Amino acid sequence: MEDLQLQPTPNVTRRQLLMRGLHCQCPNCGQAKLFKTRLRIHRYCPKCGMRIERGDGYYLGPLCINYGIAVFTVVLPTLLLGFFGYIAIKLALVIAFTGALLLPLRLYRFSWSCWLMVYYICLPHELHANRTEDCDDLSFEEERRTRTKQ
Ligand SMILES: [Zn+2]
Repeated sequence: MEDLQLQPTPNVTRRQLLMRGLHCQCPNCGQAKLFKTRLRIHRYCPKCGMRIERGDGYYLGPLCINYGIAVFTVVLPTLLLGFFGYIAIKLALVIAFTGALLLPLRLYRFSWSCWLMVYYICLPHELHANRTEDCDDLSFEEERRTRTKQ
């Protein structure tokens, strides 16, 4: 009888990572949502146990994505429309200011998911499901130790 833990897990393709990223699902298993509340991300996936929130500095990726989307889709176009006279400058400022405040809140989940998607599409071997048995990466073991301490 085979040991179930020794069976290889299916590899996650970049296409699967893209779809999971667009649906805000765990990049490793695709069976759980990334967030436990509206603004709080799971530290570990509730289904597969992969660490999702990696600690200090990891939030900078989602922040950059969120800020970039807000600036280049709402703030900058609106200000340009106001600057070139297509709409009143006061209206442009109100729309840009409101968009700069509300759009990042609306995009918070999506930007986290996009960041994880981009990260694992660029580094697919970092994903637990894609790691090999003879992987000498110690971060896998370190995650396990960190998790048992909590
Ligand atoms: Zn998972």
